[in-house]
Amino acid sequence: MAESIAVVTGGNKGIGFEICRQLARKGINVVLTARNAARGQKAANTLQAEGLNVVFHALDVTDAASIQALAQSIQQTYRRCDILVNNAGILINGDGMSVMREPADVVRETVETNVYGPMQLMQALIPVMKQQRYGRVVNLSSGLGQLTDMGDGYPAYRLSKTALNALTCMFAAATEGSNVLVNAACPGWVRTDMGGSSATSGVEQGADTAVWLATLPDSGPSGKLFRNRRRVAW
Ligand code: NAP
Repeated sequence: MAESIAVVTGGNKGIGFEICRQLARKGINVVLTARNAARGQKAANTLQAEGLNVVFHALDVTDAASIQALAQSIQQTYRRCDILVNNAGILINGDGMSVMREPADVVRETVETNVYGPMQLMQALIPVMKQQRYGRVVNLSSGLGQLTDMGDGYPAYRLSKTALNALTCMFAAATEGSNVLVNAACPGWVRTDMGGSSATSGVEQGADTAVWLATLPDSGPSGKLFRNRRRVAW
């Protein structure tokens, strides 16, 4: 097989940056994407300085034209795409916000990034995976999106991750039998700008399950949610 190509969204910091590092350490060519060119290029430079095969490409997941430009560039440059990690995400209102008060605008903004972004990226990149009969897609979800553990607080964010879980199932169904495996990963509670400094895990552990899913063998699962490499309920 030709060299593997991975696209990671929100790769400039946090869990996404660490996913880029861990994938590149496996010998995969990583396209680290970020909405801010300066921050993205700096992150790619840091990983290149570690001897890793990482290049930067601009991508704002809320911008359909930006997604199309990325997909075209990947097709022209590599003529393949093996891995997509939908990592970029936002969290606006946390545990202090009740669903009784969450403004609809916050829900809209959150869904633009956390749901429509990954959806359009899957629409843009899965066709080439299907064509080459190989692809691994990982959607960074959260325990806060689990219907089996639903509560108040984080309303827009919870809704967005539940919707992302549903998309994971839909795209898994749409790719059945094509050796494209689409799964969701809950990274745990991770020390990043989003997770905060009290979180229980470091980024190395936070990235681990996503990287494992991104490199599953052909016999691996599809359409499931995992935490700590174990399947968990939706
Ligand atoms: P983070 O440190 O806040 O990083 C989020 C990343 O997403 C940043 O690179 C950010 O870019 C990028 N991003 C946001 N909006 C974007 C857009 N429109 N286009 C492109 N990139 C965009 O968060 P994290 O903790 O690493 O979280 C990564 C993923 O894991 C998220 O999907 C999150 O929901 C999920 N997660 C995290 C935790 C946790 O405890 N940390 C727990 C469960 C799930 P900028 O730097 O430009 O803002």
